[in-house]
Amino acid sequence: MHKITVVGSLNMDLVVNTPWIPALGETILGSGFFTAPGGKGANQAVAAARLGGSVAMVGCVGNDIFGQELVKNLTDNGVNIEHVRLLDNTPTGIAMITVKDGDNFIIVNPGANAGLTPEMIENIEDLIKESYIVIIQLEIPVETVERTICLAKKHGVKVLLNPAPAGNLPEELLQKVDIITPNEKECEFLTGVAVNCVEDAKAALQVLKGRGIPQVLITLGAGGVVYNNGDEVVHKPARCVKAVDSTAAGDAFTGALAVAIAKGKQIGDAVDFASIAGALTVTKSGAQKSLPAKEDVEDFVKP
Ligand code: ADP
Repeated sequence: MHKITVVGSLNMDLVVNTPWIPALGETILGSGFFTAPGGKGANQAVAAARLGGSVAMVGCVGNDIFGQELVKNLTDNGVNIEHVRLLDNTPTGIAMITVKDGDNFIIVNPGANAGLTPEMIENIEDLIKESYIVIIQLEIPVETVERTICLAKKHGVKVLLNPAPAGNLPEELLQKVDIITPNEKECEFLTGVAVNCVEDAKAALQVLKGRGIPQVLITLGAGGVVYNNGDEVVHKPARCVKAVDSTAAGDAFTGALAVAIAKGKQIGDAVDFASIAGALTVTKSGAQKSLPAKEDVEDFVKP
């Protein structure tokens, strides 16, 4: 099986429920506090590893208790952590998530994720060169994203970009991406086309293809995926499941897609596999703890 390298963020999510949103200067009692490993990079690495991928993670954490826990969590999930750096004098990235009646507001402190430099990527050129596919997102510095994509291209390694959270990328960089997986909002940010239905997604797909990205997959949550099979544009409806929590559906989809592509599956079959992984993720609450294993996907498709 070919190797998948994920270059991206690792965060500890700090989650608490609140009865109301506190005013400036006010202190209130929350409830149900818990911590959970997160960060789009780590989520996608864990998603791919649980689904049978051979995965290496590249990223930075602080040399603190959260950092140590995040690294252990990756190891427990079978992700290679040789290239996760523990940085001194900088905290591990965290997301403070406050939940009120099912809605939330989030403050992210990137911490060590901001310390993943282009030079660090140059130091792992051999790892990139030996990979079959590199997955990248936008929770690390843009110069680092840039260097990763350029090095992967230099060695003919496929680049899978999950352009989340929505952010600006130089046009010439987008042209170097082989596969892109935006959701509706990220797609609108990249193309200017508001994606409210399948037809909108098809129009946006043509814009991204026109910019030189050969394989575009626009995820529409319960609305499924719009993707291209060569020049043909296809809408694949979502698998029917009882949705509980949509967190990490996109991460499961992207991780699963990489596994299927690394196994040499055709795009239609790869999308099917990724859609099942995304659907299974929304049937459970939480981020990484809701990501399915290979056996869960196999059970789902059993007649
Ligand atoms: P993101 O988390 O990036 O916003 P999406 O919500 O679009 O990503 O989900 C990614 C994929 O996961 C979808 O294209 C779909 O295949 C699957 N998925 C997401 N939500 C559901 C749902 N409610 N029911 C079934 N499948 C879903």
